[in-house]
Order: sequence, then structure tokens, then C-alpha cells
Amino acid sequence: MEHYKTLMKNYGPPAFNAVRGEGVYVYDESGKRYLDFGSGIAVTSVGHSHPKWVQAVQEQAATLTHCSNLYGIPAQQKLADRLVAQTGPGRVLFCNSGAEANEALIKLARLHGKNISGEEGKRFTLVAAQHAFHGRTFGGMSATPQEKIQGGFRPMLEGFKFGELNNIESFDKLVDDSVAAVFVETIQGEGGIFPCEDSFLHELRALCTERKAMLILDEVQCGIGRSGYFFAFDKSGVKPDAIGMAKGLGGGFPIGAIWVSEPYAELFQPGSHGTTFGGSPLASAAANAVLDIIEEEQLLESVTSKSVIWHEALQGLVEKYPQHIAGMRGAGYMVGLVLKQEGANLALTTAARDKRLLVVPAGHNVIRLLPALTATLKELAESVRILDETFTGLN
Ligand SMILES: *Cc1c(COP(=O)(O)O)cnc(C)c1O
Repeated sequence: MEHYKTLMKNYGPPAFNAVRGEGVYVYDESGKRYLDFGSGIAVTSVGHSHPKWVQAVQEQAATLTHCSNLYGIPAQQKLADRLVAQTGPGRVLFCNSGAEANEALIKLARLHGKNISGEEGKRFTLVAAQHAFHGRTFGGMSATPQEKIQGGFRPMLEGFKFGELNNIESFDKLVDDSVAAVFVETIQGEGGIFPCEDSFLHELRALCTERKAMLILDEVQCGIGRSGYFFAFDKSGVKPDAIGMAKGLGGGFPIGAIWVSEPYAELFQPGSHGTTFGGSPLASAAANAVLDIIEEEQLLESVTSKSVIWHEALQGLVEKYPQHIAGMRGAGYMVGLVLKQEGANLALTTAARDKRLLVVPAGHNVIRLLPALTATLKELAESVRILDETFTGLN
């Protein structure tokens, strides 16, 4: 298809118009059905049009869709209670996207830096990671050391340095007394599915505690059950000081959030930060429905057990097509197949789509598989079958 005549061209021309979704499937205008293993980009966590989610959103829309944050919003309060119960003592702030969550976290880190140095503008550096992705706002871009993200938009914000993921010496060198926080994705998504090792998270925790820097984890993509744990860092037992979330939280309705641990939870005071839409009744109802469904359908357990079988089958593809696939990385329902050839991920994404499987490219040579947490063994097996056909077609 061509670029649509009145839409800006920041996205390439689309392959099809999507008009309907049901469970793990989306349908185009001609009625063609695609197995959606992108889930938006890790967004439709409980599948498309889950009946419970639809009911919750419809009921809330008919009751009270929007109310400003000048008044109390019960659905938002309930959601905050649940996120605190899930995560630990602290407070939550709502917004509308991953980039907005990260923006709030960067502001929070600067307040922390001001607090401990006693002076504004002295301790505000964030140490992020190479290959990171934290969003498209100026804060998010500045924390994203990739030419394709930053190119043309410089100057970036001041005060970002980048360490090598899973190399604690590299972070150790960078975290000096100008640093307010360390800021990493627990599993890097856009950069190519690079998980932090548990030992690295423990080392970062110790380093941050020793140097009085906050440890902030971006769980926008890997959080809300995607790894088989509620947060991907849960597996490690490490407790961060703050967390960013978005994507899967609303199950398709835009919502972002940050959780901040108790020692830092008072940094934002009345007037420090704000949002017109964040945590609206409708967005909060959608997110509450996602959490209900994760609990009722025991999706964390389901993702953990089913992903073992799925990963084995995918590993079978790695072994069957050594000329095309170099390996796989990830956790739970967040898997990257690493292709041998740089840049081959775009053609592979197209080839899979022609066989009615939607996947998302990442990094330079990775295809990402991000099924809904509700995906069954049969649907997981279907993805492997289509990928098998796709790789066979390349020979
Ligand atoms: C997608 C993503 C973001 C940005 O989220 P938006 O909702 O697109 O602003 C930030 N961090 C990570 C890890 C992401 O995957």
C-alpha cells in the first residue's frame, strides 16, 4: 500500500488495514486472518477484545469516561493499590505511555539528585545502557543511544551516559557522584531482546545503594506478565527504587504508570508533575480488567509453563535452520529469534506476514515474538509451524 495521503510519513507504508481483532488474531479489510504475535507491540496483553476487558471498558465508558486529576478517581486508586500490593511499599503515578512514564522517572531522578547533593543542577546524570530504548520524547530519546532515534533531533538533553549491559565494571566506572540514577530495561526490547542477567541486576542494586543513585527499571515492554513474572525483575529477587510501565498494562487502552518505592515516594509534591489524561477512569478500568484477567486466568503460571514447550519448539527451528538463525533470546512470551544476516529481520517479517503471522523486527537482525499472555499451546504451535514454512521458503 501507499502512504495514506493525509498521514505523516514517519511510518512506512502499511501492508494492510487492520479492522478487527479477536483473541490472538487480527483481520484485515478483505477478511484475511493473521496470527498476531506482535500484540500491537506487546500491548494487547490479554488478546484482542477479551470479553471481560470489553465489558469493563464499556461499563466504565457509560458511567464516567473522564475526570481530571483535580478529583479522586476510584478506579485509579484501586489500580494504584493493586500495583503497590504487587510491587511493594511506595506510591504510583499514572500517565499515558511508556515515554511519559520514563519522562516522569527522569524528572524524579533529578529531584533525587537535588536532594542528596543539596543543589539543583549538580547531580542529574542518568546511566542507561547501550542498545536501550526508552521512548521518543526528548528525555526518552536522550536515554536511547541509537542514531536512528536521535539523528536529526540533536541536541539531546544533557546528562546521559551509557554502560554495557551485563558488564558491571562498565557501569561501575560511570556511576560517580554526578549520577542520580541508573536506568535500564530489565529485558531490552527494541534493541534486540537482550535480558539483564540476574547476577548483573544484583550487582547494579549493590552499586546503586553504595553510590546513593536510584535504580530505575524500565518494564514498559517486559513487564505485566510478559516474562512469566509480573515484572521481569521479579525472577532475580532484586528490588528497584522505581519502575516504568505502560504497553501491556491497559491491554490496548493507553495507560502508563510509574511505581516509586517508599524512600523516594515523597519526591513529587503537589505541583511537581501533572497530566490531563493520565489515570482516567476509563484507562484505569481497562488496566484493572487486565489485572483481573491475569489473576483469574492464572496467566503468569500459564506463560511460564507454556513458554517452556514453545521455547523448545523454537529452539528446534534454530537447529533446523542454522544457515538462517543464529539463536534465540528472551523469557516467557518475549522471544527474539536472532538471524544470521544483518538486516534480514525486515524481509523475514514480511515473509512471515505473507504466511499470516505478524512478528516485530528488533535491533538489526532480530525478529520479536510477543504473543498475548492468553495464547494457548495450539496457537504457540501455530506460530512455530508458520515460521518453519517461512524459513523453508528462504532456501
Ligand atoms: C515502547 C517502549 C517505550 C516507549 O513507550 P511509548 O508508549 O511508545 O511511549 C519505552 N520503553 C520501552 C522499554 C519500550 O519498549
